[in-house]
Amino acid sequence: MFDLATVYVMLRDSRKLAAACKYAEIAVREAENAKSAGTFGVGGLLIGNDGKIYKIIRNTVIQGNSVHDPTAHVERQLVDWYFSKKREKKTKNLLLPPANKTTIITSLDPCMMCSGAILAGGFNVIHISQDSQTGTSCRGVGDFSTLPDGLEQRARETFSAFGVVGNRLFNGPPDSIFSGDEIDSKLDRRSVRAFSSSLKKIKGIINNHHGQSPDKLTDPKTLARSSRIFRLLKKYNSKVFSDGYLVDFDKPGINLGQILVEKAKESHEKSGVFNSACLIDPFGNVLLSEAGAEDASPIRAPFLELVRKYHRLLLEAGAEGSKHLAHLKYCKTVTMLGPGRDPKSLMEVGCFGSCIEGKLPKGEQMQYVIPQQGQDDLQNMLNNLPPLYSDVMRLKDAIHQVKDVQLQQFCTSKATLFASGRT
Ligand SMILES: [Zn+2]
Repeated sequence: MFDLATVYVMLRDSRKLAAACKYAEIAVREAENAKSAGTFGVGGLLIGNDGKIYKIIRNTVIQGNSVHDPTAHVERQLVDWYFSKKREKKTKNLLLPPANKTTIITSLDPCMMCSGAILAGGFNVIHISQDSQTGTSCRGVGDFSTLPDGLEQRARETFSAFGVVGNRLFNGPPDSIFSGDEIDSKLDRRSVRAFSSSLKKIKGIINNHHGQSPDKLTDPKTLARSSRIFRLLKKYNSKVFSDGYLVDFDKPGINLGQILVEKAKESHEKSGVFNSACLIDPFGNVLLSEAGAEDASPIRAPFLELVRKYHRLLLEAGAEGSKHLAHLKYCKTVTMLGPGRDPKSLMEVGCFGSCIEGKLPKGEQMQYVIPQQGQDDLQNMLNNLPPLYSDVMRLKDAIHQVKDVQLQQFCTSKATLFASGRT
């Protein structure tokens, strides 16, 4: 016979198990749907801390066997969805609670891009399965040593992992709405299967699409002005192929500064952040230059806008484009601001990882003009990231400050003017 107190605890625990399993089941089902659709098998949802479901989403990085959007991970999408809905004044029946009163439930431990986005947006998050290559807690649930110091503490306050019956206990802050909750081990197994069975193929597609090495490509600048690809590139950037938009690929100089400053001014007007990003192809053509859209969502940083736009361009250019346009790993991106130790910087570095998902050729593919931390600190931060970023991609070799001193000085002086308001 059980006494009443024991029966109460058993009933309460079974109700909690049922509630946790209900939400986890939705995330896992979406992960399985994503896998069936031919992309990474990851799914998730956003709920209010009162349990109300606001949005269910699956990974959509790959669509129709092509890279649709390398940033279309579940958590990053949910963060952008939340802020876009918040801006819609007409959404009367969808009064969203503040981000810190919501929880993202995801089938897989968030990658660096998504953790950066979650931390920048101020959300709580709970995951089901571990990811040994890119997961924030790849060294063990509750271990956030992959993150820079300040963020490690914030993750301890907002990141959780479901307990899994017979496997592990709940891990997370005591005020998590799922504090102490365990889910059925079948859910974890289904989630792991959905992700791992899709992994190798999808990583291969991402790392090799538009896979021609630059020596097999023809400079798009030499194309007839009437050709489809030439016109397409002009549509994406009306100034492409003009004198100011041709730079030294290995050592971009001051004319790149003009381009970056123009876009950084746009960002500054919209959100007060003097930052921008541009993309240089292996022939030295500045194909794209982007401002941020942080007025729409705080995680729409210039680098993410740039990456999404370039992949839209590649998709639109199709097979014909692959004769002239290179995979991102053969291009160079240059941002005004280098990676700091803040959530958005982590998100940008992680985003680059999500675009490559494998080995990088030799080169400094991700350059910046104005450092936000010393090179040694940056190298330590990059070396500490999960294995995909630190061991496979060796990001410490790929992320460097631009070499041209004039370019550095020009941009720094402009940034100082904007920071002081003297413009
Ligand atoms: Zn992610």
